[in-house]
Amino acid sequence: MQRPRFPAVMPQTQNRSGPVQKNTQGLPAKIATSPKPVPASNQALGPGSLAPRQRMLQRLVVQGVSDPLVLAALGAVERQQFVDTALLNQAYEDTSLPIGFGQTISKPNVVARMLELLRAGVNGRLGRVLEIGTGCGYQAAVLSHLASEVYSIERVRGLHERARENLRASRLPNVHLLFGDGMVGFAKGAPYAAIISAAGGDAVPQAWIDQLAMGGRIVAPTATAGGQQALVVIHKTLQGLQHSVLEAVQFVPLKSGLA
Ligand code: SAH
Repeated sequence: MQRPRFPAVMPQTQNRSGPVQKNTQGLPAKIATSPKPVPASNQALGPGSLAPRQRMLQRLVVQGVSDPLVLAALGAVERQQFVDTALLNQAYEDTSLPIGFGQTISKPNVVARMLELLRAGVNGRLGRVLEIGTGCGYQAAVLSHLASEVYSIERVRGLHERARENLRASRLPNVHLLFGDGMVGFAKGAPYAAIISAAGGDAVPQAWIDQLAMGGRIVAPTATAGGQQALVVIHKTLQGLQHSVLEAVQFVPLKSGLA
């Protein structure tokens, strides 16, 4: 049976965040003007609580993040909803944070960098995206603003449940949380326009390559020959797979099986 063809980029029928216009700082205007009132959950950070998120975005721009859709997506998600109460004052710092079960939420600039790589060469929203390693659900929430559908798999049941809890209030109908071993991908949702891993393995599993749509990209931390970890991008083209090995990173290990 032949699979229906699936474009790596879905036609943009609807853009939840509306048209994005850049202001002089290169930030999407919608972020810079903060049109929304401060939601109750933000008040935990104090009355000026939009400021930390704003500062995070400005820091990302200084660090070289330039994709307006990625900046808008990061600006749309309240990172403090995903971290422990004890860590609230660090929610928007440029640091990874513990999320329980020995796992961590990545630094905002690493999340931004990976999402920029995932979106390279794509106008508008991505189609279906597979995320391996839901963790606390933060990146899945950011992805929900960049993709038509997000399938996010977590192997630790406690984290899968925590992510479900964290995301409940945001009501993101295009995010599908799955409990399972992401090493085998999720064939039912394939082919994917993009696959992103938040955990680093020895190599990119063949299942991910098989489940990637033509034209799509995988972004995954992967072990290098020197025993370090680097960001690896695999671009599936008609001419074959193009591999790029980029900067060194430090992600938690990709493990098989459930926990
Ligand atoms: N994107 C996450 C980051 C979580 S850290 C966030 O925003 O919070 C990486 C996660 O990958 C951990 O929760 C870890 O349990 C998970 N993981 C590791 N190997 C996995 C596998 N084979 N399948 C699914 N999840 C896996």
